Amino acid sequence: MSASRSKEADDLLAAAEIRALLSCPSCGSAHVAQVLGDNGGVSYVCTSCGHSWS
Ligand SMILES: [Zn+2]
Repeated sequence: MSASRSKEADDLLAAAEIRALLSCPSCGSAHVAQVLGDNGGVSYVCTSCGHSWS
């Protein structure tokens, strides 16, 4: 694990994780579909702009 990770990056990551549960991090739409990823994990797809993330 790197100790050089900035607090700003941590904040951005935390914010992204929170937004992922509520809305698309790209366009902000709440029209988000939850889909299964390749590794059995969960990914999200925005049905408004097509952005996908996990
Ligand atoms: Zn979107």
